[in-house]
Amino acid sequence: MTGIAEILEEIAAAMAAAEDRGKVADYIPELAGVDPNQFGIAVVLADGTELVAGDAATPFSIQSISKVFALTLALGRLGDRLWQRVGREPSGYAFNSILQLEQEQGIPRNPFINAGAIVVTDAVLAGHAPREYLGELLRFIRMAADDEDIHINRDVAKSETETGHRNFALAHYLSAFGNLMNPPDRALGAYFHQCAVEMTCLQLARAGRFLMRAEGGPRLVSAERVRRINALMMTCGHYDGSGEFAFRVGLPGKSGVGGGILVIAPGRASIAVWSPGLNENGNSQLGTAAVEMLARRAGWSVFG
Ligand code: GLU
Repeated sequence: MTGIAEILEEIAAAMAAAEDRGKVADYIPELAGVDPNQFGIAVVLADGTELVAGDAATPFSIQSISKVFALTLALGRLGDRLWQRVGREPSGYAFNSILQLEQEQGIPRNPFINAGAIVVTDAVLAGHAPREYLGELLRFIRMAADDEDIHINRDVAKSETETGHRNFALAHYLSAFGNLMNPPDRALGAYFHQCAVEMTCLQLARAGRFLMRAEGGPRLVSAERVRRINALMMTCGHYDGSGEFAFRVGLPGKSGVGGGILVIAPGRASIAVWSPGLNENGNSQLGTAAVEMLARRAGWSVFG
């Protein structure tokens, strides 16, 4: 079999030549100016080998990928009580949809759509100052990545605070249904800053190692919890494109509108890919194509 390093070089070359690169998210003004011609990929294998190609050392806004780390913290803090406030089903709607929240009486479908993630952040906040929560989240991410040089981009958080009307609408809606414990602006302040964490592909792939549960790899949460987080990433990690991602890639993954995707090949690899242009579901266009190529060439799929 061709080595993974060679496969990554081929993928980076194919992505550099791609013409249709998707569309950079422009509803967060600070992200609108990101150069769409960038592409990076990093893979950490079960034996600890690290492989990179393209712009794998360029920091990007992880956005909704942060929801994986926030969920891990929330489950650690609340355990199964969290599921009284948020569901575990794919939504079939856009990441920021308000429609379903009305129909389902303020219980968001899953922790990865925006409404669900706002509830998760609200649950971990639970009376603490947003600063304390964000400190805890950063400590967790830095520990998982084994890297202290991971930070929040305050300009991105500010930009989203000023323009995130849909998220404010969702938070107020949740409040109206009694499913938000903190005032909406407080919960959202924490949520916007969590989304504004910046990481490189290599840092993100390292941070995802605990989800691949390799022999001798980091054990930050129990095996059962890892399986459940991966299950949610598989069924809900790409919003209304989750079925398509499972079909094309066959691995659990979580995307963000910054163009990043964290993908886990259980027992085999933690993969981070980034390219800022998004497809119609708000998932990285080239990032998806790249992990599809990698999974196929490496023979990685949870479906056999
Ligand atoms: N901060 C973004 C929002 O709430 C995250 C969305 C995403 O990355 O999919 O709109």
